[in-house]
Amino acid sequence: MNVSVVLFTADLRVHDHPPLCAALDGSRHVVPLFVRDPAVDGAGFAAPNRLAFLADCLHDLDAALRRRGGRLVVRSGDPVEQVCEVAREADADEVHVAADVSRFAHRREERLRRALEADGRRLHVHDTVTTAVAPGTLTPSSSDHFAVFTPYFRQWSRQRLRAPLGAPRTVRVPDGVASGELPSRPAAADLSPALAPGGETEGRRRLAAWVRSGVTAYEERHDDLAGDATSRLSPHLHFGTLSPVELVHRARGAAVPGAEAFVRQVAWRDFHRQVLAARPAAASADYRTKHDRWRSERSAREDVEAWRQGRTGYPIVDAAMRQLLYEGWMHNRGRLLTASFLTKTLYVDWRVGARHFLRYLVDGDLANNQLNWQWMAGTGTDTRPNRVLNPVTQAKRYDPDGTYVRRWVPELSGLDGPAVHEPWKLQGAARAALDYPDPVVELSEGLARFKHARDRG
Ligand code: FAD
Repeated sequence: MNVSVVLFTADLRVHDHPPLCAALDGSRHVVPLFVRDPAVDGAGFAAPNRLAFLADCLHDLDAALRRRGGRLVVRSGDPVEQVCEVAREADADEVHVAADVSRFAHRREERLRRALEADGRRLHVHDTVTTAVAPGTLTPSSSDHFAVFTPYFRQWSRQRLRAPLGAPRTVRVPDGVASGELPSRPAAADLSPALAPGGETEGRRRLAAWVRSGVTAYEERHDDLAGDATSRLSPHLHFGTLSPVELVHRARGAAVPGAEAFVRQVAWRDFHRQVLAARPAAASADYRTKHDRWRSERSAREDVEAWRQGRTGYPIVDAAMRQLLYEGWMHNRGRLLTASFLTKTLYVDWRVGARHFLRYLVDGDLANNQLNWQWMAGTGTDTRPNRVLNPVTQAKRYDPDGTYVRRWVPELSGLDGPAVHEPWKLQGAARAALDYPDPVVELSEGLARFKHARDRG
């Protein structure tokens, strides 16, 4: 066979890339293709932070292919039309692509298969490119997917993962296939000021540093808000600049104490993907409804705005929300407690929060974001759906001396130790001198509202 096309989607790397390796094994020439799809922008997923990270990833991928004698072909438009056009121009027999889980990805795959077959070409869809274990591989006896993490993880841990593949040495691209410009980053003014850079080179640098020195203390330190001791690999997993299969092998290979606790978190990612693959509607509808009558964005406008801006009067919530705006990323403990605050204390619809997170998160990911929001809202896979995280208790446990709050809420930087978590306890002039809002809601009032709504439901 002479020519194959490899369609890159959420797998923007050359290491451990089964579609690229399969194409190179079977063909003399390969067209590495990325299609910028305007429908993704139209659906609200083109957040500036992620567009900047994506631009970094595409430039880095193009450079990696050029070092191997090839290049990245970039097109813009409907991916099915564009792939078919490139396949015709290059006279390709086959197209290779990674499997993905959203309804959007499934439809794209089906349309692409039909369109290519009509042209006499074949589509190959590769598993375990964007997940370590493919959705649908593990199922309980009574369903097409696991709805609870623990039994899923038990089976997941026993799976033998395929061996990671090396990066190809040479990529030969046929002449005469036109390419558009690589996209550039959006204007800096539209981005979070401390946004992390993207690209496979950066992802592999982070991975090496993490395996060398970070993962050891993961189990004890992953919830320490100020310590910032998690891997920060989430955007690299989202854009596929790192392979989850390789990540699990490398973490286990380090054979250090924190490795299994870390691998368990990576399994959560696969877990959510197998839920979304089986129930694509869970991206926007309750996975397990409690018949909540949430406050809408409109009816809770002031509370929602205070939450978005980090002005709720609860320092730990505000610190985490400001980290999101400034970095385009938030610590997992911050995500949990801000999501609990919005859905359980302010009793606002989880979709309002999920939308705001997707607007800023550089790792913003349909499966992980929507299903984690649902987990915290009690409409997802949590086996204790009425769990409420008290922001003061959480603050004292996960930011015991207040360092994280003072880092992100400078108005409170003059308050020492854990006193920073309860500024409303200050008296007289000390309180009046603070330029910091009173709490938007009493915790007891929020809890009463949640209980009332829950009992009514
Ligand atoms: P580490 O602690 O180093 O974990 C390693 C990897 O494991 C992560 O990169 C991630 O891929 C995976 N992981 C860790 N925790 C989870 C989890 N709870 N669920 C699924 N996978 C996990 N993660 C996203 O990647 N994208 C999102 O849009 C997203 N939205 C979230 C929204 C809410 C409300 C909550 C509570 C969590 C969300 N998460 C999301 C999960 C988690 O917070 C992030 O993956 C994690 O904080 C990323 O930081 P890290 O790479 O340092 O994680």
